[in-house]
Amino acid sequence: SDPDTEETFDAGSLRTPIVAVLGHVDHGKTTLLDRIRGSAVQEGEAGAITQHIGATAVPLSTISEMAGALVDPTDFDLPGLLFIDTPGHHSFSTLRSRGGALADIAVLVVDVNDGFQPQTEEAIDILKRTGTPFVVAANKVDTTPGWNPQEGQPIQQSLETQSDRASSRLNENLYELIGDLSGKGFSADFYWRVQDFQSNIGVVPLSAMTGEGIPDLLTVLMGLSQRYMKEEMSVDVAGPGVGTVLEVKDEQGFGATLDVVLYDGVVREGDTVVVGGRDEPIVTEVRALLQPRPNAEIRAEKQFERVEEVRAAAGVKIAAPDLDEAMSGAPVRVVRGDDEAALEAVKREVREELARIEVD
Ligand code: GDP
Repeated sequence: SDPDTEETFDAGSLRTPIVAVLGHVDHGKTTLLDRIRGSAVQEGEAGAITQHIGATAVPLSTISEMAGALVDPTDFDLPGLLFIDTPGHHSFSTLRSRGGALADIAVLVVDVNDGFQPQTEEAIDILKRTGTPFVVAANKVDTTPGWNPQEGQPIQQSLETQSDRASSRLNENLYELIGDLSGKGFSADFYWRVQDFQSNIGVVPLSAMTGEGIPDLLTVLMGLSQRYMKEEMSVDVAGPGVGTVLEVKDEQGFGATLDVVLYDGVVREGDTVVVGGRDEPIVTEVRALLQPRPNAEIRAEKQFERVEEVRAAAGVKIAAPDLDEAMSGAPVRVVRGDDEAALEAVKREVREELARIEVD
């Protein structure tokens, strides 16, 4: 295809919001991410979700299939959600974009029985400091005594089938959680009662184990992004790629590679990129862009497949020479134009961004 027409067509499109999952240890972050990947796969359609490097993309069509009556896909023009696969506030804090949080939006997972715990508090403080919009996943509703599990169902449908005893027991826990959030200065409520998600925190009761409530969570995340972050999602998807390094990893046959979340623009094979390094910004040329092979094709010797280009938002592995001194958390920027001035400008941006990260 003609790259010039593609660029005109795509300029100014909306990108996928980047979602991070935070919460206290054992409250169910990993299980929730696994369930989102798993249930989306069960929806059956090829390409229902895409496994990226370090992230999972859930397209709007899959969300609307899972959510049934909860979602009218014509209400949305954002393409879906990109979940960062590494949960926890450590990764959240170290992954920045232009000095802010890399994640556009967050899910705070809280075990409904356990309530607020030290790392819940820490996570809330970080979300507050970075001004990241979030929703609360009140997880493990299925452990409520007398619970009648409703695999994969929207939560209100499930609640209708529960005994009075189970419902009131769950409600006690949920109100305690809402109280804890209010103690932290957040007015919160059951998500279906929240009108304005900017000033109120929506609480989504769910089970990462049985999947009930997960359609609701995805719907709320889409709604929140669509309503309040559309401007930030408006990117020049054909512009020079900008991303953040998740990890620097040695790969057989490639040497040191970068696992990157791209949050703006496009990166192509052969592009010149500048990456934050231990001493100075590293200038190198993209030798290969790699994505995980779809599950069915995994062979030990061929874990990755090459792609020619990647568009934000996406996770991708970048193979290029001279990456040994690259740092996780550092910015990556594509240089367009082959003059020295363009290169120097990008190097300066990378230096400034690194300085900002080191100050906080
Ligand atoms: P993380 O440390 O926050 O990533 O927590 P994990 O996802 O590892 O979950 C901790 C434990 O809680 C595991 O044994 C999970 O199987 C269990 N768990 C997580 N979510 C649920 C849930 O919704 N219901 C039940 N019954 N168990 C859960």
